[in-house]
Amino acid sequence: MQKEFIDQLSALLSTPKKCVIFPHKNPDGDALGSSLALGHFLQQKGHDCKIISPNEYPQFLAWMPGQENILCFNKEELKCRTYIEDAELFFTLDFNALGRIAPIDQWIQKTNTPIVMIDHHEAPQDYAALMYSDSALGSTCEMIYNVLIELDEKAITQEIASCIYTGIMTDSGSFRFSSTTARTHRVVANLLDSGIDHSKIHQNIYDSYRFERLQLLGLGLKNLTRVDNLQAVYMHISQAELDSCDFQKGDTEGFVNYGLSLDGVKLAVILIENKQEGIIKMSFRSKGDFDVNAFARKHFNGGGHINAAGGMSALSLEETKHELHQIILQYSSNLI
Ligand code: 5GP
Ligand code: MN
Repeated sequence: MQKEFIDQLSALLSTPKKCVIFPHKNPDGDALGSSLALGHFLQQKGHDCKIISPNEYPQFLAWMPGQENILCFNKEELKCRTYIEDAELFFTLDFNALGRIAPIDQWIQKTNTPIVMIDHHEAPQDYAALMYSDSALGSTCEMIYNVLIELDEKAITQEIASCIYTGIMTDSGSFRFSSTTARTHRVVANLLDSGIDHSKIHQNIYDSYRFERLQLLGLGLKNLTRVDNLQAVYMHISQAELDSCDFQKGDTEGFVNYGLSLDGVKLAVILIENKQEGIIKMSFRSKGDFDVNAFARKHFNGGGHINAAGGMSALSLEETKHELHQIILQYSSNLI
């Protein structure tokens, strides 16, 4: 992190400010964890702070300290717009393209309020007055840790540590992805020193399935398809299948990783039909040097990181499956 970033952020925060923090749409553990950690810190320092999420977050995150005060733009639009109009400082966390908080981006662009971006995705858009962007780091939560201890070495309270731990754990696949460094573990060691219950956090996130969610996983696994003789698999879940298992937000989180758990498989994809939005939402995961960020950007209007990315298709589920299959064949030489 550049010293200039911290100096300028300190200057912005030298007087009490009305702040609004935005995590990306469909916030995950990292987006919510970083937003809540920063929110707790700003409030402790006497700033007025609201977290506005574009939409709801999954139930398995609904225990995080401070989550009960998060506003969802899709549920309380007018209230959210008032906070946005009155704000003196915006933070955008865990994304780097304003389209990822649509339709909030329109309301932000009507203001002249400076934006601070803290994010670990590649190719940031040029919208922030102040930017800390580093795609080498595994999570925005690790970046928030870096920022907070630079601003105040005693910043990490137990509740802040719980939030940061959650984001580091979820974005690193429980500390196994290659972006997990010795430094990540040192940060985590410091978080544990603050007295957090890390086993409980893991349980809250990964061992909190509803019965129907496990049944939905069963349907997804039945649909798992291997692309010819290649090290590539995809899984699809139709709207009817979601409905039959009383789908709730977050239920399909992590399903794509089952494909990747197969020996030798280098690329795993999940396609999830969303009839309401008229799209197929896609997640891509890879092992090694197969770059799913480039793949999602090129073919499915998405992006992310080298080993984890997302995207979408406006075709039907059947058509998207067919298209994906054909595109994967073009990459045969990388998927043997
Ligand atoms: P997931 O598959 O878990 O939704 O997302 C994996 C990674 O890709 C995350 O870093 C997420 O922020 C990013 N991602 C997911 N969907 C999209 C998308 O539609 N566009 C872009 N640019 N990134 C995405
Ligand atoms: Mn992240």
